[in-house]
Amino acid sequence: MATQQPEPVTIVNVGYRSTNYYVVGAGSARLLIDLGWPGSWAELTGALKRKGLTTHDLTHAFATHYHPDHAGLAQELKRAGLTLIVIDAQVDAIPLLAQMVKPTDGYLPLTLDGARVLSAGASRAYLARLGIAGEIIATPGHSDDSMTLVLDSGAAFTGDLTVPWLAFGDGQARVLQSWAEIRRSGATTVYPGHGPAGPVPPALEATTDAG
Ligand SMILES: [Zn+2]
Repeated sequence: MATQQPEPVTIVNVGYRSTNYYVVGAGSARLLIDLGWPGSWAELTGALKRKGLTTHDLTHAFATHYHPDHAGLAQELKRAGLTLIVIDAQVDAIPLLAQMVKPTDGYLPLTLDGARVLSAGASRAYLARLGIAGEIIATPGHSDDSMTLVLDSGAAFTGDLTVPWLAFGDGQARVLQSWAEIRRSGATTVYPGHGPAGPVPPALEATTDAG
């Protein structure tokens, strides 16, 4: 049997309502990054369908952080058979999500049964088993539980991490530190939770003024 080259990782944006949801594919694994708005199952399946996908094509799910527009359908996706990857540092944020939604939002509370909770340090080995070369790194700043998935191809899924030039005040140091980690990881292209993809921003000097 001929040696197979690893298949290239594909990135498909299935976003809606001003939020990007990415399907990262490698081999038979399809990882959904960020998990829809609460109660928006029909919109998610519609967005998938427009890209020739169904939820049955998806194998894994990962939320960059547990805000309603990034993790709203996590429980539904888990019920649909996807393996939810949760970084241990995100666990405490999950109960807070239920407090951010209105009863009319249709949020199905997320439980961790069946989820795969792992440390960021263990993410590279876990993703490698899916055929995805990359790692998940902690990038707090927008929220304490914010994570970035960085692929070895250079793509970085940063969720809502504040862009460096808009970070001011008390949280600025954390945001700049998170961007430093992203650059250190070798990332070249940012796939944000909102707006278009673009290059990883260069280092900015921290301002001493709170802005
Ligand atoms: Zn957010």
